[in-house]
Amino acid sequence: MKRVAIIGGGISGLSAAWELKKKQIPFIIFEATERCGGAIRTIHEAGCLIEAGPNSLNGPQPELDRLINELDLEGDICPADSHASNRFIVRDGKPIALPRSFAEYIKTPLFSSAAKWRLLKEPFIRSASFPGETLAAFAERRLGREPLTYALNPFVSGIYAGDPNRLSAAAAFPMLIEMEREHGSLLKALLHRSKKQRTSGNPRSPRTIYTFKEGMQMLPDRLVEKIGSDAIKTLHPIEVVEASPSGEWNVAGDLFSDLLLTLPTHAQSKLATPFDLTFLHAVRYPSVTSLSLLYDRNQLTHPLNGFGMLIPACEDRFILGVLFPSSIFANRAPENSVLLTVFIGGDRQPDRALLPMDQLLPSVEKDLHELLGLQGAPHHISTHRWEDAIPQYTQEIETVHEQITTLEATHSGLYFAGNYRDGISITNAITSGRTVAERIIDK
Ligand SMILES: Cc1cc2nc3c(=O)[nH]c(=O)nc-3n(C[C@H](O)[C@H](O)[C@H](O)COP(=O)(O)OP(=O)(O)OC[C@H]3O[C@@H](n4cnc5c(N)ncnc54)[C@H](O)[C@@H]3O)c2cc1C
Repeated sequence: MKRVAIIGGGISGLSAAWELKKKQIPFIIFEATERCGGAIRTIHEAGCLIEAGPNSLNGPQPELDRLINELDLEGDICPADSHASNRFIVRDGKPIALPRSFAEYIKTPLFSSAAKWRLLKEPFIRSASFPGETLAAFAERRLGREPLTYALNPFVSGIYAGDPNRLSAAAAFPMLIEMEREHGSLLKALLHRSKKQRTSGNPRSPRTIYTFKEGMQMLPDRLVEKIGSDAIKTLHPIEVVEASPSGEWNVAGDLFSDLLLTLPTHAQSKLATPFDLTFLHAVRYPSVTSLSLLYDRNQLTHPLNGFGMLIPACEDRFILGVLFPSSIFANRAPENSVLLTVFIGGDRQPDRALLPMDQLLPSVEKDLHELLGLQGAPHHISTHRWEDAIPQYTQEIETVHEQITTLEATHSGLYFAGNYRDGISITNAITSGRTVAERIIDK
């Protein structure tokens, strides 16, 4: 009889469990900490709703929409304010709104005239991606140097806390390679997609940013509620997995037909297992600290009319960027107050993330003073250190993926899912968990 051990109660493990639950396949989730959700964690402090990890979801995404529907969470969706489509990038020490239309693109001071022309010539660039091409090399080849410096570099730091000179174009953004391969140009691919949408007759669903009324934690909490707490063992860190003589997996003295590992690779490689997992060390997770800071509205001169502000590496600032949570979502901070979430470290300067607060805060405040006109001290500080924050999709991860596939093929009932395998977003992690659960179900 099928019985599945799921190691790790993050969103990947929970999503896999939910698929098994729907098919009435028994399972146990083993989670090391006292709560499920992993990186997703919402806290309430000083009258604020603070996200320690992910702040928002992006839609529409069929996988995510389906899960939200199955969990009856539609009524709890909290959409972003219309300002949130505005994103600031720092150039020459000033936050500049990223252009959202062709007219804004023509006028924006974010790129020089030469860079704007170069970008428009992208459809005529005749070249193709090659194995091992970094994201930076891909972007420079197709779009030119300034868009790499002032658009891609800060965005990659916002998404991956990563460095485009180290990320693999094919592993980190496979869709870009696909667009180039199919259409010979990113601009042509975008035009083709929008024409197809127009001629399909289907109304275009607006791309939206959202969370839930009580924060991101509602998603794992609802999964736990639906799965049932008797199938979840929290405060159960797994250190050893054994193969039993009967061909089953022995986890914490219990036998299972199938074993699903959803831990971050750095935790997985510490497990004592009958198979070798040391190759997982090749996946790097740079450290990131997120500081949520509460101020009176009048302590800042910037209107904070957007999603946040990202800072290109060449601007040589201490921080990676800032989110404006109280501008994006309702009920994040008390009236007349603003909540900022500042990110420090990442692959640019991982050591900075682990600095003591007395060294961190003055450097953060200096950047906020110069970029957003901040005066004075915060009324509340919420610090969240992610020593191993986000797996970097460098060229090495492609080899790791191949080795994982080989292990699965050579060990019956062994599966891997998580944000190190199918992409780093929450939606990717949900897909990763579901896909593996379907393979277990169909076996
Ligand atoms: C600071 C930050 C901001 C982010 N922002 C966004 C965002 O805005 N939008 C977005 O889509 N994504 C965002 N992400 C990415 C996203 O949150 C993660 O990729 C996703 O939540 C990972 O889910 P997971 O289940 O794969 O891993 P995890 O969430 O890491 O879950 C793994 C689980 O395994 C448990 N575990 C570890 N060791 C053991 C053990 N030995 N035994 C048992 N259990 C163990 C852990 O406690 C944890 O619960 C962000 C990530 C971070 C860190």
